[in-house]
Amino acid sequence: MPVPNSKKYKEILKNCREKKYALPAINVSSMVTANAALAAFAETKSDGIIQFSLGAGKFASGSAVNSSVLGAVTLAEHIHRVSKDLGIYVALHTDHCQAHDIQFVKDLLDESKLRLEKEGQTLFNGHMFDGSALPLKENIEIAVPLLKSCGELGIILEVEAGVVGGEEEGAATTDDVSKLYTSPEDMLYVAEQLFPLEADFMFAATFGNVHGIYKPGNVKLDPSILKVGQEAVREKFSGNDFNLVFHGGSGTPVEQIRETLDYGIVKMNVDTATQFAFSHPIAKHMNENFDKVIDASGDGSKKLYDPRSYMKKAEANMKDRVIQALEDLQCLGKTIFN
Ligand SMILES: [Zn+2]
Repeated sequence: MPVPNSKKYKEILKNCREKKYALPAINVSSMVTANAALAAFAETKSDGIIQFSLGAGKFASGSAVNSSVLGAVTLAEHIHRVSKDLGIYVALHTDHCQAHDIQFVKDLLDESKLRLEKEGQTLFNGHMFDGSALPLKENIEIAVPLLKSCGELGIILEVEAGVVGGEEEGAATTDDVSKLYTSPEDMLYVAEQLFPLEADFMFAATFGNVHGIYKPGNVKLDPSILKVGQEAVREKFSGNDFNLVFHGGSGTPVEQIRETLDYGIVKMNVDTATQFAFSHPIAKHMNENFDKVIDASGDGSKKLYDPRSYMKKAEANMKDRVIQALEDLQCLGKTIFN
């Protein structure tokens, strides 16, 4: 079952906290990019997460179908099947889903319920609800029933307070710099509202992090925000704190990534960096072989315009970038699969 069941996933996350490492959550939108992440996890004997945005689901389902739900189901099933004998665990999540799209998560919970009845395991391990564009009270009011539904199936809900800066498909954005930092008061409020439900969740608190590779100097990353917030939560809730998620990790200096591991980051999303790593070898391939790729008759070379020729290079380069993320997060070789 290399997609872990809820009990195994809990164990993996507990291990992350105890040994102070985090799982990279690699955003993918196709079988090839999913396979790149799987290859990195398998080659280095590391557990990891693969996740899909709504747009990725739509893309994966194909232009004739254009369904976020169907594409996400198909990619998830692909990973369930091909990961079986890899000797590592790969958890499946979905990324930013705002309130107006929440049917996406509900439909996938229905799919997980069916799969649990039929095959003894849910389709996904986690879903994100991004209510960060809403006032915190409203955000949590939507999160509560959703977390209950997830909890019944042993699925984790990821919630967010504070806004991740920059641009990411599906994610809330803001021009208000103060919103880029989650306050300890907000963290206490989330704990107060969600801890009593006794269902597992993850919390994306923001500390100046930005989607996309950001220009240094634009916003100041301040991981100590997490430290202070977690301390306040532990003090009030008899030692309990959050499993935290780091959004917008691409471009962050490794020392700052490592610092967040001390404060309870268990998942860091990686998208921009792996998108770049995938595209780079394709650009190079096209540049070096331009005439042979665009001419299908005379001077063209079938082995150069067969998409597999450059997709293989893209997959390999993306795999290497995922391995770097595993290293940055101290996750390398830490599978609990045996
Ligand atoms: Zn994000």
